Amino acid sequence: MVKAVVGANWGDEGKGKITDMLAREADIIVRFQGGANAGHTIINNYGKFALHTLPSGVFYDHTTSIIGNGVALDVPVLFKEVQSIVDRGVPQPKILVSDRAQMVMSYHKNIDAYEEERLGGKSFGSTKSGIAPFYSDKFAKIGFQVSELFDDALLKEKVVRIAEQKNVLLEHLYHKPLIKPEELFEELMEYKKMVEPFVCDTALYLHNAVKEGKNILLEGQLGTLKDPDHGIYPMVTSSSTLAGYGAIGAGIPPYEIQKVITVCKAYSSAVGAGAFVSEIFGGEADELRRRGGDGGEFGATTGRPRRMGWFDCVASKYGCRLQGATDVAFTVLDVLGYLDEIPVCVGYEINGEVTKEFPATHLLEKAKPVLKRLPGWKCDIRGIKNYEELPENCRNYIEFIESEIGYPITMVSNGPGREDIIYR
Ligand code: GDP
Repeated sequence: MVKAVVGANWGDEGKGKITDMLAREADIIVRFQGGANAGHTIINNYGKFALHTLPSGVFYDHTTSIIGNGVALDVPVLFKEVQSIVDRGVPQPKILVSDRAQMVMSYHKNIDAYEEERLGGKSFGSTKSGIAPFYSDKFAKIGFQVSELFDDALLKEKVVRIAEQKNVLLEHLYHKPLIKPEELFEELMEYKKMVEPFVCDTALYLHNAVKEGKNILLEGQLGTLKDPDHGIYPMVTSSSTLAGYGAIGAGIPPYEIQKVITVCKAYSSAVGAGAFVSEIFGGEADELRRRGGDGGEFGATTGRPRRMGWFDCVASKYGCRLQGATDVAFTVLDVLGYLDEIPVCVGYEINGEVTKEFPATHLLEKAKPVLKRLPGWKCDIRGIKNYEELPENCRNYIEFIESEIGYPITMVSNGPGREDIIYR
């Protein structure tokens, strides 16, 4: 059985916690897209971890973690991350890296930073992890695939060709130091040393695992609204965040993905620029940010304060639809226990008309939230294990949102830990 765990919104919905929790029953966890630009925060019996590249299943010794072909592989970050968890007492994880994954090179990260600098106030708020330059190069067919590390002759020719092209940008657009082909070759050889023991044909490995009936989890990064096609383009990420892409980024047939667990947070948060209709500001936002997540809503990679907002039914319904949600995991609900009334965005007013359908970016910029206020429950719901034991107003909040988005909320997360989950 293959399940995908993906986000319905702007990312940071709590996918890491849900994956870590579901990984108990899984044999294999696969990252299929994205790179080290976003982070998952996971709290378990080993402590609190911020993972950027490793799948969230690395904390169990019965799982295999796969870096799929669709990932932007930052080799040194991956190995630093493995070392950092092993140093904290986690058993050496079993990791496989796709021979078809491509690698983020140091010039991708440099160019990412130079471009943000060039754009100044109009920047995307990139984490400068090299993701956009990396995926541009992949699709322009000038990226470095892991398999190429094992062909010296090819690499020696290719580093010259790539340096020539990148140096035009570096010299004339960014006025920055140029790439030396020998240094680029050295960098690739470093990566080869680190990655070699883990490389294999992961699509074949997964094909056999599917045949043997293994439990496989595909772990998405970010959420629907950051998808390059279906998200808030151009304020999106550079690889598809949809469960459908799991088939491509892992190399399995699309019909094998039988469950799409779509994670929705009980309120909204976003990082980076772009329209965010239910956004709140000032003291109201500060309080939600401070109480949010586990220890506040600050970026796992950058430490930046996240933008905050009320739950957005329009965006979440759209987010679940594009994921093809079979189950919704509704997270971080415990955080809302302090509010007398909880506003929820139930529609967008655009040019004087109210819609419940999420529009394309140029209309989104004009949308004003239509808010409905639901009564709060004013108590701590952590520790509750049965749905019926939740306060009535809390159940009403869940059921109202479920009817607005039109997808079944089958899991409610009421705390950051593995055990903090209520199944319905
Ligand atoms: P991801 O990228 O989707 O995995 O999300 P993040 O890890 O960036 O953000 C989720 C944050 O919320 C993390 O700090 C989690 O520990 C925390 N978290 C997840 N589920 C819950 C929950 O149900 N309650 C609380 N209070 N925190 C949660």
